[in-house]
Amino acid sequence: MRILVTNDDGILAPGLWALVRELVPFGEVWVVAPDREQSGIGTALTLLQPLRVHEFTYAPVPDVHAYAVQGTPSDCVVLALEHLVPDAECVFSGINAGANLGDDALLSGTVAAAFHGYFRGLPSFAISLMGIRAPQFEASARLGGLLAQLVAQGQLREPFVLSINLPNIPWEELRGIEITHLARRTYRDEVVETRDAWGRPQYWLRRGTPKWEEEEGTDVWAVRQQRVSITPLHSNLTVLEVTPGLLQAREVLGQHLTPPELLPPFDPNWVRRAGRIMGVGTEEAAHPDEVALGDAGSSEP
Ligand code: MN
Repeated sequence: MRILVTNDDGILAPGLWALVRELVPFGEVWVVAPDREQSGIGTALTLLQPLRVHEFTYAPVPDVHAYAVQGTPSDCVVLALEHLVPDAECVFSGINAGANLGDDALLSGTVAAAFHGYFRGLPSFAISLMGIRAPQFEASARLGGLLAQLVAQGQLREPFVLSINLPNIPWEELRGIEITHLARRTYRDEVVETRDAWGRPQYWLRRGTPKWEEEEGTDVWAVRQQRVSITPLHSNLTVLEVTPGLLQAREVLGQHLTPPELLPPFDPNWVRRAGRIMGVGTEEAAHPDEVALGDAGSSEP
């Protein structure tokens, strides 16, 4: 069995290799991982520039194929499953240093990478550890090995992603395993303004204090109980319940579906002109008089 391993913390992250070491007994491991940290990148794919790939010759685990990709975790999985190792039979993503609980499942590059395995019908696992500062990867890695063993035995071929979160404690202190659902764990993101070397403002997005909802049965609840949380995920985000507010909105919107008043067309030259100023989409150099306008905004491709 060929096992694809990736992560979003980058190919130098210790959590990746702790996992790889436990997977090696159960298959031929192929590591295809970002060449740098990509946490928070979600399911992003790089579609507008090429991906550069370097064979990674510094693997701390022997007998492993390893490639560093100048791209996102999702790029890595697509590149691997479509080109480098198309006969991989399962996908592991992690071990992430930091939990991916609740709403973070939508932001996490770790979980997203597993989704790209799931999109291709493979058993796919995202493993995240609740320990950013002093992660103890041993228990998570061991669990990963046991999961790979189950897959190798023909089990656990479920048609969904398993997003697994562990508390940052040793194996013998784990108090059980729970099949969970996502909590409503949301962050209040902070915007931090700093100045660049020229004194211009720039902004950092920083995760603020998380708001926890610890309802029993959720992933947050499980890890708080020092248990392993296994959350089955699929990609259908649809809410099946139709609310009165939604029905009312459809009613109101429907009343406005009268023949539209035609708005005047945009000046056909504005895209060309803006592109020239921004130095994109045209061979012509910007006229110096126009450069000052260049910070004004962006253009759709
Ligand atoms: Mn990460």
